[in-house]
Amino acid sequence: MNKKVPELFGCMVFNDDVMRERLPKDVYQSLTKTMATGKPIDPSIADVVANAMKDWAIEKGATHYTHWFQPLTGVTAEKHDSFISPVGNCKVVMEFSGKELIKGESDASSFPSGGLRATFEARGYTMWDPASYAFVKDGSLYIPTAFCSYTGEALDTKTPLLRSMDAISTQGLRLLRFFGDTASKRLTTTVGAEQEYFIVDKKLYDRRKDLRFTGRTLFGTAAPKGQEMEDHYFGPIKTRIAEFMKDLDEELWRLGINAKTKHNEAAPAQHELAPIYATTNMAVDQNLLIMECMKKTAEKHGLVCLLHEKPYARVNGSGKHNNWSISTDTGKNLLDAGKTPAENAKFLLILAAIVKAVDDYQDLLRISVASAGNDHRLGAGEAPPAIISIFLGEELEEIIHSIVDGTAYRGVRAGMLDLGVPTIPTFRKDTTDRNRTSPFAFTGNKFEFRMLGASQNIAMPNIVLNTAVAESFRQFANVLEDAEDFDEAVATLIKDTFAAHMRIIFDGNGYSDEWKKEAEKRGLLNLRTAPEAFRHFHDEKNVKLFERHGVMSRVEIESREEILFENYAKTVNIEALTMIEMTRRDILPAVVAYHTELASSVAAKLAILPNQKCGFEEDLLPTLCSLTNGASTALKSLQKAEAKAAAEQDFVKKADLYCNEVLPAMRALRLVVDELETMTASRFWPLPDYGDMMFSI
Ligand code: ADP
Ligand code: MG
Repeated sequence: MNKKVPELFGCMVFNDDVMRERLPKDVYQSLTKTMATGKPIDPSIADVVANAMKDWAIEKGATHYTHWFQPLTGVTAEKHDSFISPVGNCKVVMEFSGKELIKGESDASSFPSGGLRATFEARGYTMWDPASYAFVKDGSLYIPTAFCSYTGEALDTKTPLLRSMDAISTQGLRLLRFFGDTASKRLTTTVGAEQEYFIVDKKLYDRRKDLRFTGRTLFGTAAPKGQEMEDHYFGPIKTRIAEFMKDLDEELWRLGINAKTKHNEAAPAQHELAPIYATTNMAVDQNLLIMECMKKTAEKHGLVCLLHEKPYARVNGSGKHNNWSISTDTGKNLLDAGKTPAENAKFLLILAAIVKAVDDYQDLLRISVASAGNDHRLGAGEAPPAIISIFLGEELEEIIHSIVDGTAYRGVRAGMLDLGVPTIPTFRKDTTDRNRTSPFAFTGNKFEFRMLGASQNIAMPNIVLNTAVAESFRQFANVLEDAEDFDEAVATLIKDTFAAHMRIIFDGNGYSDEWKKEAEKRGLLNLRTAPEAFRHFHDEKNVKLFERHGVMSRVEIESREEILFENYAKTVNIEALTMIEMTRRDILPAVVAYHTELASSVAAKLAILPNQKCGFEEDLLPTLCSLTNGASTALKSLQKAEAKAAAEQDFVKKADLYCNEVLPAMRALRLVVDELETMTASRFWPLPDYGDMMFSI
C-alpha cells in the first residue's frame, strides 16, 4: 500500500500535471495565466479545455459532469448532467462544450437568497472557477464554480472569499513595498482546518429520530462513563474506526487532499482529521470534500459520521480549528518572526495589524462562527468562550508590553537582546507556549482561530479575517505613505496600535467566570447567542469594511444576515418538532407501558400475598407518575412556544422567539425525560442510550 500512495495521490484531480500533459501548449499557458491572475478565461480556449477534461474524466469512469458550488445553506450543491448527446435515432456520443464548462444556468429560486430573490430574479448562474481544480468523484466530473444571481450578486460563499483574498493581497503588497519587497507579486492566505467528528454505529443511529432529523441527540442521560478518565484522547484507535480512517485517507488522497493527521479526540467516539494547509480557497473546497467523504465512507462501514457541533450533552462537542497565515508568492510566511531587527519590525507590524483587525471586528468574527449548533459549544465551558480574545504567548506579550511601556525588553531567556532599532527588540519566537482556552491563538507562525463549528463552511471566518486584516494593512500603508522618517513611523505605528488594542490580548483561562467579568470591564463584546450576534452583521462599520474592499455589497450583506436568521429559526424548529414527536409517540407510550407493568405486578403479588410489601414498585410508581405528568406539562409548553415562534413573520423576532422561548422549553422537557430514562427499565426505553452509542464501536 505504502508504495502506491504517491500514485494514488491526486489521481482523480485534473491538476497541473494533467493539464500540461493533455492540453496544447498555448492553451495550457493561457489557462495557467488565468489561474494565477484571476482574470477571465479566453473563451476561444474553453472548448479545448472542456474536451480534454471530458476525455480524461471518462477514462476515470465519469459519465456525468456537474457544476459544484457553495450556496448560502452552508453545504455544497450539485446538479448532474450526462455527457451523452444523441446521434441519429439510436446512438449517442459523449460531448462537453466550452460553454457548458464555463457557465451553467441554475434555478436559484430554491436556494436561500434572503431578500436577493425578491429584489432580483430567481435565475442564478454558476461560473467556472479555474483557480480550483476539477475532479472526478462517484462517476461525475466536478467543476468548482461560483454561484451568482442574474444581476451579478454573489449567492454563494466562494465569490466573497476570492474577493477577500484579492483585498488582503492588494493592501498587504502596498505595505511590503515600504519594506523594500519588490519581488512579491501576490500575497495568499493559507489555511489548515482541523476537523473534529463523532462516529456512531448506523444501526443505533437509525433508531434515533433526533440524530436522523437534527444531527444531535435531543434526549439522553449521561452514561456511567464519560470522558473523565481522559483515556480516549490520543488513545489507540479501535479496529473498526481504523479501517474507516484508512479508507477515508485513501479517498481523500485520490482527490488530492493532504490528509495528514488522525487521532482520537477528548470525548468517547470522537476523532479528528487534519490536512496539510493549502491556499485558502483550496482549503475551503477541501474541507467541504473532507466532510462529505467522512459521511460517505462511514456509511460504507456501517457507521455514521456526526458533524454536528454538539451531538451529545455532557461530553465535548466538535469544532474546527482554522489555522491561518499569510505568505508571499515567493514563499515567505509573513508570520515567521525575522532574524534581524528590521525583519522583526515588519513581523511586529503585521502582528499589530492582525491584533487591531481582531479587536475592531470582534463582532464579525463572532458572527462568522455563529449557528444554532455552535451555540451549544461556545461559552459552554469546553470550547472557547463566546468572547473573542487573542493569545500571543508569554514572550511576545512581554515584548509588546515593553514596547508599549517604553521599557527595555529583558527577554524571557538570556542572550536574545538586540537593540538594533531602539524600540524594537530582537527575539526568538516562542512556539512552546499553548493556551487551549483561547479562541484566537498565535502558534509560532500562524494564528489558530478555534471558534468554528464542526459542520460549518469555513469560508466566512476566512472572509472576515482576510478583509479585516486588509483594512488594517490599508490604514498602515496610508500612514507610511506620508511618513518622513520610515523607521520611526513604523515604530510609532507598532507602539500605538498595540497600546490601542491591548484589551483584546489575554493569556488567562478563557473558560473562567472571572474572565467574563474582566472582559466586560475591558469593553469586549460578549455575544452569547447566534441571534444576538447576527443582528450586528449590517452595522454601518461592517458594511463600510466590506464595501470598501469590494468583498460584499450592502445587499449581499443584508441577504446573508437574513439567511442566517432564517437558518437558525428553521434549525430550532425542526429540533422542537422532533422532540414533540418523540415524546408523544415513543417516550411517553413506553413509560406508560412500564407503569402498567409495575402496577400489574403489584396487583398480582397482592392477590396472592395480601400482606406482602412491594417496595420497589410502590416507591417507583408515584415518582414515575409525577415525572410523566411533568413531561406531559413540559410537552404542552413546548408545543405552545413552538406554535408562537412558527407564526411570527418578522425574521429577527422569530429567531429571538426560538432562542428565548423554544430552546428553554426544549431544555425543560429534556430535563424531565432524561430523569425518566434513568428510572425506566432498559427494555422499555425506546431509544439506544448514550452508553450504547458512545462505547459500542
Ligand atoms: P497544532 O499541533 O498546533 O495544531 P500542527 O503543526 O499540527 O499544529 O498544524 C495544525 C494545522 O495547521 C495543520 O493543518 C497544518 O497544516 C496547519 N498549518 C501549519 N502551518 C500553516 C500555515 N503557515 N498556514 C496555515 N496553516 C498552517
Ligand atoms: Mg490545533
